[in-house]
Amino acid sequence: MNKAAPLIEAAKAARKRAYAPYSQFHVGCAVESADGTVALGANMENACYRLGVCAEQSALAAAQQAFGLEKVRRLIVVGGPADSGEEAGAPVTPCGGCRQAIQEAAALSGHDIEIVCCDHTGEQSITTTIRELLPAAFSLGD
Ligand SMILES: [Zn+2]
Repeated sequence: MNKAAPLIEAAKAARKRAYAPYSQFHVGCAVESADGTVALGANMENACYRLGVCAEQSALAAAQQAFGLEKVRRLIVVGGPADSGEEAGAPVTPCGGCRQAIQEAAALSGHDIEIVCCDHTGEQSITTTIRELLPAAFSLGD
């Protein structure tokens, strides 16, 4: 079991609480602080499509309330179609907007943030960082 395994399981549990009746694509996210506190989120869609919120944004909002964005050190995202079975799929990576939101937390902390992208089973994963995913980030100074 790798060190991210408990967080992957937490993100999978969060995914089960996704509200995605339009896309039928369920995503869960776990955000870990420097001291190991975890905040969870899932995608939340809306009949007015543009009001939908990604799992990462949802979890970052919960993290801000739980311990503050400046303490975020790791983010796990898991996702796949709602009707996915037990068979592994492709890892889900944060969209461009979420990358910018994760970057905001990295800028506040002065630390890079590890990102583990997984399929719905947690078996297929890619481990990266926000600096790798968003190398020329827009920041406060811009
Ligand atoms: Zn997103």
